[in-house]
Amino acid sequence: MDNLHTLKINEIFYSIQGESTNSGLPCVFVRLTYCNLRCVYCDTEYAFFDGTDMTIDEILAEVNKYKCKLVEITGGEPLVQESVHTLMKNLCDLSYTVMIETGGSLPVEKIDKRVKIIMDLKTPYSKMENKNRYENINYLKPTDEVKFVIGNREDYEWSKTIIEKYDLTGRVLQVLFSPVFDVIENIDLAKWILDDNLNVRFQIQLHKYIWHPETRGV
Ligand code: SF4
Repeated sequence: MDNLHTLKINEIFYSIQGESTNSGLPCVFVRLTYCNLRCVYCDTEYAFFDGTDMTIDEILAEVNKYKCKLVEITGGEPLVQESVHTLMKNLCDLSYTVMIETGGSLPVEKIDKRVKIIMDLKTPYSKMENKNRYENINYLKPTDEVKFVIGNREDYEWSKTIIEKYDLTGRVLQVLFSPVFDVIENIDLAKWILDDNLNVRFQIQLHKYIWHPETRGV
């Protein structure tokens, strides 16, 4: 019966994973509609409302077409829709490697333990810093990842403080630092990390360099 539940899906597509430690790998993306946040740098506003209702069986059939075992659940904010948990469980049962990208403002404790969580902690530049649900950190696994999207030096310093306060580098597989596209120079963020000998992974949104930054479905 569960598989008859519907989710509003913005798009399902096959592309190169652009962020996280799986960056560079072919991946099927399932982008869910809706987001409870409004980050100033958001590049997926088209997912706030637009979408098509699909049953979980229909989503699984669409994912299966790509013959790729790495699947990322993203948004918008995928945790807005409760049935996402059923979708993730089904994908794991079918032996997919499943990742979820979440903005970090909604509870993560119900996420199937087989799923890799990539959780944002929203920096001051995003204007969504007050939405961070810090208790989520207690539910992250050693295989999960935490991402900071950095818009300026203040964000960088803030992120360092949060990493230390919650011992993030000791708690999760990887802490990711990503520059806000077209707002700060990649080289500046790279230099700050090297100057401080910081144990984080610098990453760029790879798909924006492979394709035109405005291209959808990649
Ligand atoms: S959480 Fe993600 S999808 Fe939602 S507004 Fe922020 S950047 Fe956009």
